[in-house]
Amino acid sequence: MNQVIELIKADVKKEKPAVESLGFGKHFTDYMFVMDYNDEKGWHQPRITPYAPLVLEPSAMVFHYAQAVFEGLKAYRTKDGRVLLFRPEKNVARLNTSCQRLSIPQIDEEVVLDAIKQLVEVEKDWVPDKEGTSLYIRPFIIATESSLGVHPAHEYKLMVILSPVGSYYGDQLKPVRIYVEDEYVRAVRGGVGFIKTAGNYAASLKAQEKAEERGYEQVLWLDGVERKYIEEVGSMNIFFKINGEVVTPKLNGSILGGITRDSVIELLKYWGVPVKEVKISIDEVYDAYQKGELEEVFGTGTAAVISPVGELGWKDITMKIAGADKEDSIANRLYNTLTGIQLGKQEDPLHWTVEVK
Ligand SMILES: *Cc1c(COP(=O)(O)O)cnc(C)c1O
Repeated sequence: MNQVIELIKADVKKEKPAVESLGFGKHFTDYMFVMDYNDEKGWHQPRITPYAPLVLEPSAMVFHYAQAVFEGLKAYRTKDGRVLLFRPEKNVARLNTSCQRLSIPQIDEEVVLDAIKQLVEVEKDWVPDKEGTSLYIRPFIIATESSLGVHPAHEYKLMVILSPVGSYYGDQLKPVRIYVEDEYVRAVRGGVGFIKTAGNYAASLKAQEKAEERGYEQVLWLDGVERKYIEEVGSMNIFFKINGEVVTPKLNGSILGGITRDSVIELLKYWGVPVKEVKISIDEVYDAYQKGELEEVFGTGTAAVISPVGELGWKDITMKIAGADKEDSIANRLYNTLTGIQLGKQEDPLHWTVEVK
């Protein structure tokens, strides 16, 4: 279904940044998608308009009570110049899951998916083609109603902005060092840990600073009640290969259900590699490590796709994990296959990519 989206032309186009200086989320393209909601009209006036600052009331509810949800996905440039999205319908469905939890009115998933495709089509020239680079797509919804009363807002804006992003890795997967946080917690069951909402990130910054002070790059969260069971990493889900078997924490209501996580599970099943969703404690991980059975640890997420973990710091214990960045590791095989599919370099047996045209 192709809805009519108004296109408001930009007078001037920006100069595109050099591919080496892209980084993550620093540059934005010429256009954005916007759609508004009010109770009377529902979601209305979908438009592609020049990327520009917003005008909002200081009393806009998002600033006070944090009704804000977002998504993150990428458009990839293939060798023969096509542009592919990876499972975008999953992101749009998850956006609705997030809306539902925060009492934000549901979106029409087909309309938003179509809007993403049309926006990327308009901005096709912004999809970089250097290996590892992509066009990051950030859909989000904020409560715009002017009110200090605590209630679900009656007015919202849905927007999609685009940012060309650089390569996460150089030629090789680079292992990350991760700190197991046992004081601060990210989420509890019944809360909002399973959705992509801005507040989860605000709440995570303190632990991230603490990890960095200790020389680590990211945080591994434990469950919010016993601070014992593994949940996930900052913006990645986590997998362990223990004694030949791949395991990942089961989605329990406080973990974000990553689309990369889901793809990894599907792919392993497709390959016939045993994979289990389990409840696993940090003690069990350490136990496996001590027995020499902790073969690989890796994170999964849209940003890095697969991120091998080279070191886990927990209290005063340091676990050095050699496996995930090895040539013949599961992590490496997953990385090569997933990026191969995303870049149209190899067969897409599970039909995950969608061409923008
Ligand atoms: C987005 C996100 C992930 C990864 O999800 P993907 O869909 O694989 O990108 C994992 N954890 C958190 C907290 C996230 O916000």
